[in-house]
Amino acid sequence: MNQEHSRRKFLGLTAASVASIAGLSSQRSGKAATRTAADLVVFNAQVYTVDANTPRAEAFAVKDGRFTAVGRNDEIKGLMAKGTQTYDAKQMSIVPGFIDCHNHAPGETLLYEVLVGNPYVVEFVTIASIVEKLRAKAQQTPSGTWVEGFFFDDTKVKDDRQLNVHDLDQVSKDHPVVVHHRGGHTSYYNSKALELADINKQTPDPFGGTYDKEANGELNGRVTDRARSVFDRIGKRPMFTEEQRLQRARDSLAYISKQFVRYGLTSVHHEGGDLFALQQVRARGDLRHRVSYEANGKTLEAMISSGLTTGFGDEWIRLGATFEHGVDGSFSERTMAISRPYIGISPPYQGNLTESQEVLNAWVERVHRAGIQINCHANGDVAIDRMLTAVERAQKLFPRAEARPKITHCTLINDDLVRRIKALGAVPAVFTSYAYYNSDKFHFYGEDLMKHCMAFRTFLDAGIQVAAGSDFTPGPFDPRMGIQGMVTRTGWNGETWGANQRVSVDEALRINTLNGAYNSHEENIKGSITPGKLADFVVLADDLHTIPQDKIKDIEIVRTVVGGATMYQA
Ligand SMILES: [Zn+2]
Repeated sequence: MNQEHSRRKFLGLTAASVASIAGLSSQRSGKAATRTAADLVVFNAQVYTVDANTPRAEAFAVKDGRFTAVGRNDEIKGLMAKGTQTYDAKQMSIVPGFIDCHNHAPGETLLYEVLVGNPYVVEFVTIASIVEKLRAKAQQTPSGTWVEGFFFDDTKVKDDRQLNVHDLDQVSKDHPVVVHHRGGHTSYYNSKALELADINKQTPDPFGGTYDKEANGELNGRVTDRARSVFDRIGKRPMFTEEQRLQRARDSLAYISKQFVRYGLTSVHHEGGDLFALQQVRARGDLRHRVSYEANGKTLEAMISSGLTTGFGDEWIRLGATFEHGVDGSFSERTMAISRPYIGISPPYQGNLTESQEVLNAWVERVHRAGIQINCHANGDVAIDRMLTAVERAQKLFPRAEARPKITHCTLINDDLVRRIKALGAVPAVFTSYAYYNSDKFHFYGEDLMKHCMAFRTFLDAGIQVAAGSDFTPGPFDPRMGIQGMVTRTGWNGETWGANQRVSVDEALRINTLNGAYNSHEENIKGSITPGKLADFVVLADDLHTIPQDKIKDIEIVRTVVGGATMYQA
């Protein structure tokens, strides 16, 4: 690490000193560790450790970026010596740093693109505002080049109707125009884009996707899942030199890292992204959170061919599971593959399966044999069944202990799926903020089905190590919003869906911390406030346990500390 880190000195520690301890053997025993004076002592706190051995504490000590002792004020104050920094928490609560196990970390979108919706909170917009923003963009864009809008949410529109091709034709007739749903599985195109892609009302739906139509049979502009791939080959896109591209990747990673710690996230599982840029951002001292890097494409191929397995790396950047391998569509956009038809859609529609069982089997087996943690995107019960079938097959052919196959989303379950998930030791990363943010979409599924969706209660009761996955951009990544939704199952609009899946505050906390560490095989080094573990923690102005549950999302994050260094301060 370089000296630039030293400009960020907090609590007597620098990010450099934190990073430099990577590779030191962890201090397993609190007792042994307490013989040396602490770098930092935090006291007068309501500490929720998420460690079953010592669930509550008043104080803790940190040395070399790790917790060294956790206990009563008087015990821990005994570890102070000359040079020890102290932090009087004034009875505020402290919890382990939050871990988001599924995030697309789209800093470039946030920094450089047209945002037609609000990434972070519930906000309604008008279709006119979307058209206006994109029209302004089109005016600075050469004709024939794509004009794109991001973070659209079809149920956060004041007009109370669907966005359509006619709206987007008002943006431009010379540019291909697209608005991407924040859920990532559906997009809305203008006539120019459809024309360039040679899509008309006679075009049949391809495997794994649809070209949606109005009642009169005309295209309405909405295109789902794999039917969108044809648009990758048409229209012009901005060109960047390699140096410009890297600069954008670095700046956007640094930007989103700041956002993560602002919300108390200390570890985030990244879906792909530029691994080289990520390391440069770390080297220049701008990486504030720890990354479990989930590889796809060339990077995954390189891992397989060179023998790099899950776990390679260090405590700041580590190769985790694979990038989510898509098996079906989207929960929020109502394209996930389910075993019964969607309510009120004709002809009957059961969502999109985006991968055949044969291709999935082959992919899972190859990655599994390479010693890499499988990660599949499977939302609907039909898709989860397919993934489990592929993993059961791979485990039979090549048994591997602690493989922890990761099921991203794992939204709609049934008893048989839960039994198989448990038997495989699979680790679901389930939508957290949706219960609050997307409560306006659950009527599309109905209460019967919602009782089995985002089934945190069922997973915990079955002894499954369920973790949290915001899926940002689709869901806001704020863990406070996630926890509020998990304990109340009540959304922004006051509707409650699937209340049988509620969990307690302590359970929600564990899902968002220790279970997240387990998800990436890192439960021995993080996820709880335990001697020997990395000193990642969050100071909260109010107690999650005592504040009214509908106010959890508004609790102020006072400080986010990663490896003993303050990465965010209110
Ligand atoms: Zn995703």
